Amino acid sequence: MSKNLTLNNGVEMPALGFGVFQTPPEDTVAAVDTALRTGYRHIDTAAAYRNEREVGEAIRSSGLDRSEVFIETKVWITDYGYDATLHAFDKSAGKLGVDQLDLFILHQALPSRFDLTLDAYRALEKLLGDGRVRAIGVSNFMPDHLEKLLRETAVVPAVNQIEVHPYFLQRDVLDADAAHGIVSQAWSPIGGITFYRDGGTGSTLDDATIARIGQAHGKTPAQVMLRWHLQRGRSAIPKSVRPKRIAENFDVFDFELTDRELAAIDALDTGVRGGPEPDAITLETFGMEIPEA
Ligand code: NDP
Repeated sequence: MSKNLTLNNGVEMPALGFGVFQTPPEDTVAAVDTALRTGYRHIDTAAAYRNEREVGEAIRSSGLDRSEVFIETKVWITDYGYDATLHAFDKSAGKLGVDQLDLFILHQALPSRFDLTLDAYRALEKLLGDGRVRAIGVSNFMPDHLEKLLRETAVVPAVNQIEVHPYFLQRDVLDADAAHGIVSQAWSPIGGITFYRDGGTGSTLDDATIARIGQAHGKTPAQVMLRWHLQRGRSAIPKSVRPKRIAENFDVFDFELTDRELAAIDALDTGVRGGPEPDAITLETFGMEIPEA
């Protein structure tokens, strides 16, 4: 299994990245610094996380060449629209302190304002054409959102970042992504949302099947879940602010799950979403101002 995924435009992306959602700005430099020292070479942030500046600071002070770190960030819905999204690039790149982004994605579809979503995506296409971003994509796009986007725009998204963990597989979205050559990227890959938001399904970290598989390999539940994503061909972006867990989550390249084990984890799907319903995202309920760089 390769550590990199080749996106549909030929760009190479480290499959295992590092997430920083809910990492407070004051903890972000230390967390990203630890991740880079550990070996992560892909950081996933977002304008809405309000820590792009600190992500950029940690990457600059790491001593690594810019080309060695894959930087992914997301446009928030408040900045959708052709000109607004072009400007959102300036805001994000300015805060990150870089000229070019590796992957720039729409954070959500806006189903009630799909016209704005399309205009935002056309801005991403323009940024791609101009070489300001190396790849473009989407997040939380359901199959019908993808179909509408593909009908109206020219560039097939390279990535769709969606909620995927053992308790919520979104098989229909995974299948739609695969059918179009889009890499599925798992957010909450170890089921974070099952334990930091009350969903009633319990924590994936306490799951007996995952624990049993972990014992067989001398690995932790988090490691088993991350390995499962990677062997299924997905990207995964686990988040932690603790050095011990940051290291644990990266130590997943020295064991192999069997087909039976992969299938046993697939079978844990409850069909219960932890995150917001993608069709319920509106500017009225989720709009928020994204500051200038
Ligand atoms: P994760 O599945 O990565 O879980 C993170 C939680 O698990 C944190 O509470 C963390 O706590 C804890 N944790 C991390 N490692 C371990 C471990 N080895 N053992 C036990 N607990 C652990 O969930 P996230 O929701 O944070 O998702 C990851 C990333 O995905 C985000 O940071 C963000 O980049 C992206 N994301 C994108 C969304 C979107 O809409 N596009 C939505 C949500 C997330 P601690 O930090 O204290 O270690």
